[in-house]
Amino acid sequence: RARLAPHREQVLDLVGRPGSRWRIPTPAAVLDLDAFEANVALMAGRARAAGLALRPHAKSHKCGWVAARQVAAGAAGICCAKLAEAEAMADAGIASILVTSPIAGEAPARRAAALARRLADFRIVVDHPDGVAELAAACADAGADADSADADADADEGGAGKPGAGTPLQVLIDVDVGLGRTGVPAPAQALEVARAVAAAPGLRLIGLQGYGGHWQHVKGAGARAMAVAEGMERLQAVRRALEEAGFPIDVVTGGGTGTFATDAALGVLTEVQPGSYAFMDREYREALGEDPDGAFAQSLSVAATVISANHPKWVTVDAGLKAFATDGPLPQPLTAKFAGCDYRFFGDEHGMLMRPEAPVARGERVELAPGHIDPTLDRYDVLHLVRGEVLEAVVPIEARGASQ
Ligand code: PLP
Ligand code: MN
Repeated sequence: RARLAPHREQVLDLVGRPGSRWRIPTPAAVLDLDAFEANVALMAGRARAAGLALRPHAKSHKCGWVAARQVAAGAAGICCAKLAEAEAMADAGIASILVTSPIAGEAPARRAAALARRLADFRIVVDHPDGVAELAAACADAGADADSADADADADEGGAGKPGAGTPLQVLIDVDVGLGRTGVPAPAQALEVARAVAAAPGLRLIGLQGYGGHWQHVKGAGARAMAVAEGMERLQAVRRALEEAGFPIDVVTGGGTGTFATDAALGVLTEVQPGSYAFMDREYREALGEDPDGAFAQSLSVAATVISANHPKWVTVDAGLKAFATDGPLPQPLTAKFAGCDYRFFGDEHGMLMRPEAPVARGERVELAPGHIDPTLDRYDVLHLVRGEVLEAVVPIEARGASQ
């Protein structure tokens, strides 16, 4: 149950009431549970059938309740983009987390070391020997601090004893598969990183990551598959070089919603990290169309209210630039009455919705699919869980804004 600002608590009175879906204060993030559950089950089933571990990316939903549902459906754990996201998910009770972006600096390295000591299974990617050195130093410090704390505790408790420096921090080498954003460019640099990890007692190399964000929305299953195949060759080359040099690679992680079928067919990855599939957005639905990778329902919408209906051509809703990410395609009405009516941003607080044939009154509701899900969800504190016409629960989006 979400903790809400006092002026928002009234929404909790709606829970369980008939028709409450249409009375949620707007703009609001609304999750259709039937569609969401189908999406989670479909991806879990596909991963199981393909023999791939599933580690959904929490950057899309930032919500502990959603992550827990994914794990309950068979996911090995989750991915987080940033340390703060991982800290929020750890607070929410998720035990296995991979941070998919490299970090830089002493302070973030100390936070990574703290997560490694706290979680049953914490993993983070590195793409430079200096990053390895920072993590190694942070782990050594954390181990020394813990040892002296343990010694104090042992003295107090008559020497009961606790494990010392804990399990090593698990690292994966991030490999640039053609996007050029993060990752080692080629096998030579991967070997340098692997040697640095091997020389650091607090760290253990468990595998590789290769994520191609630029492939996910390529139109046409064939074109997408070709792009992925080329990038996966680069990942394979790194794997071969490391294994030949005596570094065992247990985990090869990557992939997104758009590339699942190709990732499963190529067999390079051992683990996939799709995020958007659970909620979906207009950008993905338009890119994937009828492809098998696109067989996920739009479960997340932004609910809006018509606040003015005086203009002959359009009505004005209370969801504008602050209610949606603005980088993708425009939001698209899902509510049947407004199907096919174009939405346009109408300033910070307002949206313009072209009138349908039928008359529209002030106060009518419309639910819209966001253009791009991840940055849209980052704008909301809570997720309203609905089944049919009923608001079933309100859950916090704990990692909202957690981009540090
Ligand atoms: N893995 C990484 C490293 C990502 O950055 C992302 C999203 O940007 C994903 C997985 C999830 O991809 P998608 O939302 O396309 O399923
Ligand atoms: Mn995205």
